[in-house]
Amino acid sequence: MRKPRRAQEAGVAGNGDRLVMIGGGMVAWRLCRQLVEHGLHRERRITVIGDESCPAYDRIRLSECLEGTAPADLALDRREWYGDHGIELLLGATALAVQPERNLVQTTLGERGYAQAVLATGARPFLPPTPGAELPGVFTYRTIADVTAITALAERGRRVVIVGGGLLGLELAKGLADRGLNVCILERSPGLMVRQLNPVASGILRAQVEGLGIAVHVDVRVEDIATNPERGCPLVVRTAERLAHPADLVVIAAGVRPRDELARAAGLTCSPSGGVVTDRFLRTSVRWSSASRSNDPHGTKAALTMHLWCRSLPLFLQSSTNPSILLSIHEPYPTAGRRRATHLGTLRPHR
Ligand SMILES: Cc1cc2nc3c(=O)[nH]c(=O)nc-3n(C[C@H](O)[C@H](O)[C@H](O)COP(=O)(O)OP(=O)(O)OC[C@H]3O[C@@H](n4cnc5c(N)ncnc54)[C@H](O)[C@@H]3O)c2cc1C
Repeated sequence: MRKPRRAQEAGVAGNGDRLVMIGGGMVAWRLCRQLVEHGLHRERRITVIGDESCPAYDRIRLSECLEGTAPADLALDRREWYGDHGIELLLGATALAVQPERNLVQTTLGERGYAQAVLATGARPFLPPTPGAELPGVFTYRTIADVTAITALAERGRRVVIVGGGLLGLELAKGLADRGLNVCILERSPGLMVRQLNPVASGILRAQVEGLGIAVHVDVRVEDIATNPERGCPLVVRTAERLAHPADLVVIAAGVRPRDELARAAGLTCSPSGGVVTDRFLRTSVRWSSASRSNDPHGTKAALTMHLWCRSLPLFLQSSTNPSILLSIHEPYPTAGRRRATHLGTLRPHR
């Protein structure tokens, strides 16, 4: 039988025991798992707010869907797991605003008060200001919804243009080439994966990718995407070099940007280049003493200092992270000994 919640035993009213996680991705899931492993889910009410329609999944394995893996098989836990552990999972719910002074998160499915909030909003694809990026048949690549739409269109199309020759662009190129599509990569830099590789390694990679039958154009600047007046492919990607690449499907894989807009609007200190600034305990710049909030209907009477926490992928990879950091502030966030997770599958031969 489940133990009574400590907060209820102590007669804590309101949201004094509520932990709200904003973002229902891999990091939020990992934190839920760790709270459960340590039995801390019994001491607090946990709410996860996620704007995707499914529970957290292994985003890193997204490209497996191009090989036929069912999206549902990427799930990190079934939806029932959350309920079984008393975790409220709000799916298809967008957090619209955080009000630190009221300890309140407003979402499209209503409000939630909190004693502690974890920002785990991840990143969104960066969309360069390219005219035509909003046309049907133009996608980004981050979610199950994206890969489902891409594979559906790939069933009917023949030619794909991928804007961006980084890790995601290459994964996608390989997956779509394996499905028999004619794939072309347009990269603005002088080589592929220039952020990770030196010019020699990048050149070797390019030769390998081209050996898979994938066309690679580097040093090109996409000017716009337009509907194609000629018969055949419905789209055409035009570059400043006056090249025109017809396409049934265009995917923009030009990097990501942190989803820090909620934090900025809430007045948290953010980096000019993006992302929430935290201390080495992963605490954001906003902290209040619980005493000052005791008259607030959304406040808490729990004897906890209230913090907003910002978590990111390193937490997910840090298998030994102890979630008691949410209860105390004794342990700084460890920065050494992370596991490597990156796996580039482009060099596997054609099936
Ligand atoms: C195809 C692909 C391959 C990758 N491969 C690797 C790899 O090999 N190695 C590696 O280290 N990383 C890889 N990554 C990156 C990795 O997936 C991310 O770093 C990781 O998912 C980050 O986890 P997260 O929980 O912080 O953010 P996310 O996974 O982005 O999850 C955040 C969630 O919060 C939701 N959200 C955001 N804002 C709100 C809001 N206001 N309200 C409600 N919900 C919100 C988002 O929709 C999302 O569901 C890859 C990514 C992709 C797309």
